[in-house]
Amino acid sequence: MGFPTSVADDVLVRCGRHCCLCGKYVGQKIELHHIKQVADGGEDTADNCIPLCFDCHAEVKAYNPHHPKGRKFTEKELKGHRDKCYERYSLKNNDSSALNSEKPKSIFPPPENTSLIRWGYPEQDKLCPVFPGNIVLVAGCTGTKKSTYLHHVVNQNIISGHRVVYCCMKDKPFDVSIEIISENAHVNVEYIKRGMVTEEDWEKLTSSQVASNSENLALIPYNEISESNKILDIVENSGAEIVVIDDFNGIMLDDADSVERFLYKLKNIAAQSQTVVFVIYNLSIPKQRIDMRPMLRDFPSDSYYRLFDIIQLLYKPDLFFYDEDDKERLEIIIVKGALKVPYTIKLLVPDKITGVFSLAE
Ligand SMILES: [Zn+2]
Repeated sequence: MGFPTSVADDVLVRCGRHCCLCGKYVGQKIELHHIKQVADGGEDTADNCIPLCFDCHAEVKAYNPHHPKGRKFTEKELKGHRDKCYERYSLKNNDSSALNSEKPKSIFPPPENTSLIRWGYPEQDKLCPVFPGNIVLVAGCTGTKKSTYLHHVVNQNIISGHRVVYCCMKDKPFDVSIEIISENAHVNVEYIKRGMVTEEDWEKLTSSQVASNSENLALIPYNEISESNKILDIVENSGAEIVVIDDFNGIMLDDADSVERFLYKLKNIAAQSQTVVFVIYNLSIPKQRIDMRPMLRDFPSDSYYRLFDIIQLLYKPDLFFYDEDDKERLEIIIVKGALKVPYTIKLLVPDKITGVFSLAE
């Protein structure tokens, strides 16, 4: 009758008291399910056992073959979920031992600054505070100014003395650093890129607060980080309080499964090192959607929603509709965060001149 204590102890350690289906940590509220029912000859062995939370346990048992509705959890499938879960909490995880073997040196010395990470947009700090160790997703379709939006965040935090590692998956590092610095100096980036900088602009640029704190910004180009493990290394060991991944689509991950595994590791490592990780993600929105507003279901898997601590979707109406009033308006739709969600904040993001960000009426 029931699994012996030795089996229970073993499986509960292996899953770390997380439900093997939904992945939640559930502490005492966990049950051990027989994958093959005892009545059908299932044994009380670890191989025939899967730890589940109350909800998932009820769900697995709910299927009625005499009145089939939905899809049954097969034995093979349950074992698959379970093994994936065990692997996640296993200490001898291959990837992490590979990480340890070539530990990179830290980019920054230990932090002196213990002030909170800020968005740099007052409204955001009130409605969507960021805490150390949070992983934050900023997503939107092409053209929604995701990077510009984050450059401002990077800027504000560099000025207040935080250290930032910016992983550029697409742009040239020089362009990105110029964009970040010029955002604060109120200088037109396009002019700088084309080499058309006036003396006055140059003066503004070199005397900007960000430029004078530029030792707090490290830019890492794509060719050094395309592998997902390198990014985890940076989050764990760089000593930065903020790591920006611009953008997530550029990391080599094969399928939904490896995305999930990567996000789990990222979440754990960020929490341990107390690093805030901002991840930019380029969404593709189905053409048939009338207002082209981004939605959670535009993500390829639900791991994004489950694993990120904060999710903001960026929407820029003037990309799709002509409306004088909508010009330069950026909507920040907070779909996951510590406080009130969903909530939409409207910002003004000038098209060409990066620099002045203000709240729209
Ligand atoms: Zn569950």
